[in-house]
Amino acid sequence: MPKRKHRQAKCPSCHQTKDLDNQKGLRRVEKMWVDSQRMRHPNPNSSFHPLEDGMRLLAARGHNHWFWACDSCLASGKAIEADIRKHNIGLGTSFAAYVERPFICEDCQKPSMFSPSEQQYWFETLQFLIWVYPKQCAACRKKRRHQKALQKQLQQELATLDPNDANQLFKISELYEQMGIESKATIFHNRGTNQQR
Ligand SMILES: [Zn+2]
Ligand SMILES: [Zn+2]
Repeated sequence: MPKRKHRQAKCPSCHQTKDLDNQKGLRRVEKMWVDSQRMRHPNPNSSFHPLEDGMRLLAARGHNHWFWACDSCLASGKAIEADIRKHNIGLGTSFAAYVERPFICEDCQKPSMFSPSEQQYWFETLQFLIWVYPKQCAACRKKRRHQKALQKQLQQELATLDPNDANQLFKISELYEQMGIESKATIFHNRGTNQQR
């Protein structure tokens, strides 16, 4: 039988054309994935029963929602090999590697990067579903968390508001100020000043 020709594909990390069947990292992850999926879906007629070269097939097709990296990218640290045992995949297929994924932040519209180490943290430590990706850059996510905390604090103050308490009125004014709601900040500041009279 003639030896099957090796398949080529562009590495999603360095964009160089590589011999897929020679990528040790990819094949190591693929083997682990095939073994685990065959245990879960032992029936060869099941549509979830994985193919021996399933990950290389995905790589060869250049599936743009699925990621792998060549051995040199894994060795240099440009990409990180995935530990698929820690993945929460639903009915999908684990990524073989975490690769730099550029995206545009929905809040500030600036180009941002979903870094390999961040993905490793999201998908292995936090065990987010494998298809999840960030919509905001790190700075905007931090800003959102801060806004949420302020919102919560404000709600607590408003729920327990003593309208004669100048300090509390000033505190609420300050929270509105920090949230960038100037009109409310002014109203509560004036109410506080009136109570001091
Ligand atoms: Zn590469
Ligand atoms: Zn942003």
